Amino acid sequence: MKLISNFGRNCMDLIFPPVCGVCGVKLAVGSDDKMCSGCMAEIRFLRHPLCPVCGVEQIGQEGRGHLCGECLRLPPPYDVARSLVRYETAVRQLVHKLKYGGDTFVIGALADIIGGCDLSLFADCQWIVPVPLHLERLRARGLNQAATLARLFFSGREQAIRPDGLVRVRRTVAQTELRGIDRRKNLRNAFHPGSGFDLEKSIICLVDDVFTTGTTVSECSRVLKKHGAGAVKVLTLARAGIAR
Ligand SMILES: [Zn+2]
Ligand SMILES: [Zn+2]
Repeated sequence: MKLISNFGRNCMDLIFPPVCGVCGVKLAVGSDDKMCSGCMAEIRFLRHPLCPVCGVEQIGQEGRGHLCGECLRLPPPYDVARSLVRYETAVRQLVHKLKYGGDTFVIGALADIIGGCDLSLFADCQWIVPVPLHLERLRARGLNQAATLARLFFSGREQAIRPDGLVRVRRTVAQTELRGIDRRKNLRNAFHPGSGFDLEKSIICLVDDVFTTGTTVSECSRVLKKHGAGAVKVLTLARAGIAR
C-alpha cells in the first residue's frame, strides 16, 4: 500500500515538481523537504540567553537571560514576547512571499520552521489574536499574514484563533517608513477590540510576522489590557534588528 501511495506521490511530483519555498529551485521527486539545503542553512533560530520579557537575543552572553536595558527603562505593555527565527535572508523572503499571497511551497517551508519550535510558553493562552490589517489593505492583499501564521503556530487550536479579536480602525503609514516616536504616534488609536469579544481577564497570544521595534505589538497589547485582558503574550515568527 505504501508502495502505491509513494508511486502516486511521485507521479504528482513529476506533474507538479516540488520546489524550494524560498528560492523556487526544483527539489528531488519524492523529497519531503520544503526548502533546498542552501536556503535551509540560512535559517537562524533564536538562541538563549534571551531577555525574559521582550525575548531579544543576548549574543555573546552565557547562562540565564537578564532583563535588557530597554525593558528596564520602559517595561513593555505585554508580559512576554518571543520570536522563532532571525529576520534575515531566507526568512525575509518567506515573509515577503507570504504577505503577497504565499503559495503551498511557502506555507510548507514556514510550517517546517514552526514545527521544530517549542511553543509550550503559549499553551495557557485562551485566545490567539493576529495583529489585524486595515480592511482596505486586507481586501487588496486577500490575506492577513499574521492570521495565516496563527493557524500555522496553533494548528489543532483553530477554535481559539480570533482574527476578529482586534480591529484596525484607522489606516496608518507603514511602520517601516517611520522611526521612534513617529511609530508610536502613527498607531495611536489605530486598534480596537472586535465587537462582542469578551477579553475579561483572559490570557491572549498576540501573533505577528516580524518583531522590529515592538511598537505595533506594544500598542495592540496596551489596547487589549485596557479592555480587560489579564495577560498578553506576543509570538512573532521573526525578530529583526540587533541584539542589545
Ligand atoms: Zn532554496
Ligand atoms: Zn527586553
